[in-house]
Amino acid sequence: MRKINTRSFVRATRSTPREINRQILLNLVREHQPISRADLARRMRVGRGMVTSLVSELIADGSVYEGTTVDAPRGRRPMMLHVRTHDRLVIGIDVRFSRTYLMLSDFSGTPIAMETFDTIVDPAGLVAELRRRIPRLLKTYKAVGKCNGIGLVVPGMVDRRTGRVLNAPQLGWRDVDVRDQLAAATGFDVQIENAPIACALAQMWLGQRGGDAPRDFVYVTVSDGVGAGLVVNGEVVRGHNSTAGEFGHVPIDPHGPTCLCGSRGCLEAYTSNLATLSRYLGHEFSPAETRELLNESRISITDVIARARSGEARASAALHETARHLGVGLAVIINTLNPAQIFVGGEITEAWDQLSPAIHDIINARALTSTAAATPLIPDPASSYPRLRGATALIAAREFAAPQVA
Ligand SMILES: [Zn+2]
Repeated sequence: MRKINTRSFVRATRSTPREINRQILLNLVREHQPISRADLARRMRVGRGMVTSLVSELIADGSVYEGTTVDAPRGRRPMMLHVRTHDRLVIGIDVRFSRTYLMLSDFSGTPIAMETFDTIVDPAGLVAELRRRIPRLLKTYKAVGKCNGIGLVVPGMVDRRTGRVLNAPQLGWRDVDVRDQLAAATGFDVQIENAPIACALAQMWLGQRGGDAPRDFVYVTVSDGVGAGLVVNGEVVRGHNSTAGEFGHVPIDPHGPTCLCGSRGCLEAYTSNLATLSRYLGHEFSPAETRELLNESRISITDVIARARSGEARASAALHETARHLGVGLAVIINTLNPAQIFVGGEITEAWDQLSPAIHDIINARALTSTAAATPLIPDPASSYPRLRGATALIAAREFAAPQVA
């Protein structure tokens, strides 16, 4: 029988036991749906009366609905419970180095619509563009009045309290407010988060594995930059001032290429998509030249992966070197944090079969114990839009997460 997962409920000191039971019950429905009241009572080890009363509350406020019945061996056929997600919508926004993506999806992260445009690096210009696009998107998909909020993920560090972007090297942002500007411009509740942390939250709250959410893991994103979301004992590790988890800026070689952060030889300067593309095009990665190089060549990381698949040696070599450096970075994570598993998200997961032997070779050579070397690496397919799911989780997870003390 399942042990009750307390996850972040330890922090919910102002909540009553009834509120906590309500959240636990909602999460049990989310993780095991469809599920009957009797099964919930067994899993929670509380009386049927308590479950019936909590379920009635959750049905009344629209969080849970009764779906189909199932055949029971005898007696009444139980009504199965589901979390209501389909008509509760979220706009997820992923701001990246070159492109910005918008996705309208439901509370479970199922996409309804997506659009993309060239990233506007000026924060006021970006907010103005989003202000134009969001109402249009909602109107087109008959979603006006159904949107519960906007989740925004950025390639940088975000202050949890103020929502300000502390430093996003790819965008050149330092101490920038987008959250409050976007909220004021659209009238929606806006939540903002560092992209890798948001991807980790999506693993915790939107996972569809029919089981407990992972509690000790790292989510590594490899995109235009490289970042990590760390989860220890069911809590995201943010550090004292919200800047923890910047594994992309672990130095690999102090004399290596200049990174977007201004230092030299960071892991990111060897393993990001921009670094892989520069290598493929025969250049050392350079922040000053990359944007121009990409504009001139019009080649994307997906093209390099496709060329490697079709047997082009130069493309395979560029990816292989990325894999070796990524192995070093993952070994650092394994040796410092000893996570139960590491998720890897980003376009390069499409070439995972080609990359993983080199990654595992490096990890095997560098991990300090054989169990550490065996830490599962799980590619999160790019086709599931992990960053946009992460943005969605920022709004949807509040429903499921423990009531927090401010
Ligand atoms: Zn760096």
